[in-house]
Amino acid sequence: MNTRSKPQVVKTPQEMIELRKAWAAIAPDKEIGFVPTMGALHQGHASLLKASRQENDYVVLSIFVNPTQFNNTEDLAKYPKTFEHDLALAESCQVDAVFAPEFAMMYPDQYRYKVSENEFSKILCGTHRPGHFDGVLSVVLKLLQIVKPHRAYFGLKDYQQFHLIKDMCASFFLDLEIKGLPTVREDSGLALSSRNTRLSAEGLQKASLIFKTLEKKLSLEESKQILRQEGFDIDYLEDHFNRRFVAASLEGVRLIDNVEL
Ligand code: AMP
Repeated sequence: MNTRSKPQVVKTPQEMIELRKAWAAIAPDKEIGFVPTMGALHQGHASLLKASRQENDYVVLSIFVNPTQFNNTEDLAKYPKTFEHDLALAESCQVDAVFAPEFAMMYPDQYRYKVSENEFSKILCGTHRPGHFDGVLSVVLKLLQIVKPHRAYFGLKDYQQFHLIKDMCASFFLDLEIKGLPTVREDSGLALSSRNTRLSAEGLQKASLIFKTLEKKLSLEESKQILRQEGFDIDYLEDHFNRRFVAASLEGVRLIDNVEL
């Protein structure tokens, strides 16, 4: 709708549910677009918000660093938090509401209930981050139930996540459209990521080798060798579904990317 200059900040699921009902009461035909994030927003997130702005009457952004999807407590503790910056970016993208709940509000059951998938979630990031996709799918299902959007927007940078979320929504007959948008990159080719802020200037430069190496479409072994020589610690570099996927750490920061083959 975008009649407000500043997005409305909503802190509890109940408030978000009330706001969505109020919108529907005013104009039942208006549509809601939703962009779930963990904050520390960058132009990759902005591209999702802009698409949502174009295709919907209302835009909801969620900011929630979801602990159940972190298998590594240090990674969770170090996850960047830039709430004021995020609000400014949300405003510039004409977001109507920012939903930013606390853990206890999102998990009144203390995570006794969860969504599990037993096939595609077990490869790639699933192998290296046990329980990660249970956490992702569970929180996304909760968020979709609260916001009840007509469309939800995800980045293809996290292709495995996008695929699993789309598949979960189909499996549970959720009545919404799941949209996957292309990866936004630095000029160097490096995929924008909130975690990039943890890299040194030199690390940032070097990290672009991930995409550059994927782009060359060499053999898997050659590609791994190039990255290892440059000091990357590789979790996986594999081909699936006509795409090449990589997860590699540099300076202790885990980065992922994928390209179509
Ligand atoms: P995150 O805050 O990292 O959980 O990401 C929230 C959403 O933004 C997810 O759907 C991501 O796939 C998407 N996203 C993250 N980085 C990018 C990027 N560089 N380009 C496009 N979408 C992205």
